[in-house]
Amino acid sequence: MKDHMKALIKEGRTQGFSLNEVEVPRDLGPNDVLVKVLRASICGTDVHIFSWDEWSQKRIKPPQIVGHEFFGEVVDIGNNVSSVAIGDAVTAETHIPCGKCLQCRTGRMHICKDLKILGVDIDGVFAEYVRVPEVVLWKLDPSIPKDFASVMEPFGNAVHSCAPFDMRGMRVLITGAGPIGAFSVGLSKLYGASLVIVTELNETRKNLARKMGADIVLDPRQNDVLSSVLRLTDGDGADILLEMSGNESALIQGLSCLTNGGIASILGVYPSSVTMDINSLLTFKGITLYAITGRKMFETWQTSSALLRHNRIDITPVITHVFPFEKWQDAMQTMMSGDSGKIILNLE
Ligand code: NAD
Ligand code: ZN
Repeated sequence: MKDHMKALIKEGRTQGFSLNEVEVPRDLGPNDVLVKVLRASICGTDVHIFSWDEWSQKRIKPPQIVGHEFFGEVVDIGNNVSSVAIGDAVTAETHIPCGKCLQCRTGRMHICKDLKILGVDIDGVFAEYVRVPEVVLWKLDPSIPKDFASVMEPFGNAVHSCAPFDMRGMRVLITGAGPIGAFSVGLSKLYGASLVIVTELNETRKNLARKMGADIVLDPRQNDVLSSVLRLTDGDGADILLEMSGNESALIQGLSCLTNGGIASILGVYPSSVTMDINSLLTFKGITLYAITGRKMFETWQTSSALLRHNRIDITPVITHVFPFEKWQDAMQTMMSGDSGKIILNLE
């Protein structure tokens, strides 16, 4: 194997990335695995790091290889590694649990109190090789297309958000049809929702929602969302809300559209504190709220891979662009235009 590899690096405390030649990480600890990255996909977090916003200035310590969503092949393993072997096709959970805190010790690693994030706290996957701890690796059946495997982490966010309740016959409102909202449209249909209503501002994403099976797509700037939802649900309101925009007014609008006794999964991450009338939006309506972080380890991964392995859902429309690794600048630019779904870098 070669000694050096190409890697996309946050070099200094300024805007941008650079594509550099660096050493392949060969000093594997006993529980480490070296993976040859074949596909990697871009997430909003990578854009934050690229733009060097307030969050990344506090969190990232350059130089740092970025990226966390990927698919690859195991090429070397540490002495204690037994769950994967050289040649296995893998992806990975990007939240690396400490294994020691109360949550980790009680079967809830996804809410570890001391988790590290791949490509944020340790070197990431926008590189020809990445070193990852065995605990986060997830082996895949080779029949799952490589591009699908690369986006299983955000797909898992959608699977996790839809998991806490039975969707059969339910009228579902999804606020925000970014990649995760769009995945959730397909999942809601698959899980038996009777009606899937989406709110979205961006035209490309409205189309993504439609392609994934949305029955109605509303634009909050053009439609009165509350009265439309009431009309479409015979005056009741939605049974389930999936909040996937990270926008405060979408959250409040979504909650106001829920029927009494409704259920909400909140995945969106808001740029600042949200102010809302808890009494009328939640308490007096008897709303059940699920706050969703990451993916359950590894129930979500099992569900996600079974659905993809057996072709229960076609996520092709959500993958709008594939760029060769060298064209990473075009990929970042397309990502930042907002006129895309998932964007994949091909490292083969
Ligand atoms: P994204 O930012 O690509 O998608 C958000 C979408 O919401 C965009 O298409 C945007 O046009 C739309 N939107 C914005 N304002 C809106 C409004 N007022 N009404 C309707 N739609 C509106 O993000 P994504 O990658 O699909 O992720 C969705 C959300 O989940 C983001 O907030 C992201 O930060 C968050 N997230 C959370 C977790 C977690 O573990 N909780 C993990 C990944 C992502
Ligand atoms: Zn922990």
